[in-house]
Amino acid sequence: MPPDTTDEFLEMITELEGRRKSQRLAEKKNQPACTHCFGEVIAAEGIPGQPGYRKRAPLRREGHHALQLADEIESRISLGKCGLSSQQNVAYNTWKTWRKDNSADSLLQKLDRDDGRDVTEPEMRKLINVLSTLLFPTSSEDDKMKVDFGWQDWSETPQRIATYYHADKGGPLISMCCFNQVGDEGYDNLGIVASGRIATILNGLVHAYLDCYACRCKGVLGSFEEDVEQLAGHGRAWQRIAGSIERWSPRILGYPLDIHRFESIVMNWYDWKHWPSRREVESWQLDYYATTEFDESDSDDEKDGEGEGGGESEEM
Ligand SMILES: [Zn+2]
Ligand SMILES: [Zn+2]
Repeated sequence: MPPDTTDEFLEMITELEGRRKSQRLAEKKNQPACTHCFGEVIAAEGIPGQPGYRKRAPLRREGHHALQLADEIESRISLGKCGLSSQQNVAYNTWKTWRKDNSADSLLQKLDRDDGRDVTEPEMRKLINVLSTLLFPTSSEDDKMKVDFGWQDWSETPQRIATYYHADKGGPLISMCCFNQVGDEGYDNLGIVASGRIATILNGLVHAYLDCYACRCKGVLGSFEEDVEQLAGHGRAWQRIAGSIERWSPRILGYPLDIHRFESIVMNWYDWKHWPSRREVESWQLDYYATTEFDESDSDDEKDGEGEGGGESEEM
């Protein structure tokens, strides 16, 4: 039976780990490391423009271990606004314009309406592109990930919100129902429905990113099945990246967003193939959104003009 709460989940994992410890270690010892991208660290180091900065390795299609991709996202995103490239700054300014526009026909206000189609598909693609540029930065040396978007009317099946289609199944494409939505809470001028839709896009973008760049290793430590595929694509790497985005979105996007990480586990509960360790699950901070108090000063934007960045000592 799936757990009801994140605490219950952690208890289950702790108990399971106690029982399986020796078995797990034996399994790990017998698993070779991936030869195809062994030992390669792709994450950038330091802050752009500062001494000691090292660029991250170019991203290749299906070319990187999924957990390295997760490390890369965390290392970039944790720099906040001061880590943005010039291309990202353009996206940041576009996002800021949308955020500050409170007119009834602004993009974020239209996105909050019952029928999502008030935002056209080209506008949705632009929104996806801006979010992807901000949170999943690429450079001119990288293979490109371009995610398509389509509205669907799935009002007959109210639990169906969105689907991500893999590159080999007609994607990368996010299809979203124009009516059904999982809104929990709005924030500031972002309505409940709009907030749910943006979180759904981010959920899909994590799938797209891993689909595009994660290597398909089998029978190695951290296989594609374990890190990406299990739990209908919500494996270890997805959890780590989605967790980074949740923790940093108040600063970068100016809104807290619930990406439904725990729900992704519960909904796909019978699809576990490799249990995560207790330490791993703790690091996901699955209750982050539910237990954190947000206020407007969390946003990097609100700190503009108050001297530099102001973030390094901030609570995660
Ligand atoms: Zn690999
Ligand atoms: Zn998902």
